[in-house]
Amino acid sequence: MHELSIAHNVVEIASHAANEAGINRIQAVHLKLGALSGVEKDSLLFCYEIAAEGTRLQGSRLEIDEIPVAIYCPHCDDILPLPGVQALCCPRCGTSSADIRQGYELEVISLEYESSDEPELSL
Ligand SMILES: [Zn+2]
Repeated sequence: MHELSIAHNVVEIASHAANEAGINRIQAVHLKLGALSGVEKDSLLFCYEIAAEGTRLQGSRLEIDEIPVAIYCPHCDDILPLPGVQALCCPRCGTSSADIRQGYELEVISLEYESSDEPELSL
């Protein structure tokens, strides 16, 4: 399964970062997920639990920040987020544009962990 290998990757990245920072118990992993990343959110959440089992991330949450597709519209001279991925048209003026500027993201952005002073680690 595609999502399972991605989930393993996320766990690996987070574990490595936690190791470097000397963090034992991670509460949550924050991930940016673009609408065009080809990854299904629910499937990834499910696979995350499997991938995290037996690691220091076991029992932690995967917080997914969904990033919409955004295109550059030459007519508006602006970057606009799209309501969906069906049509690559400017939501303001309707000009079609294949100049995608956002939506392929798939990255771990930060970790949440138990600490009194700095409960978040940015990656
Ligand atoms: Zn436009």
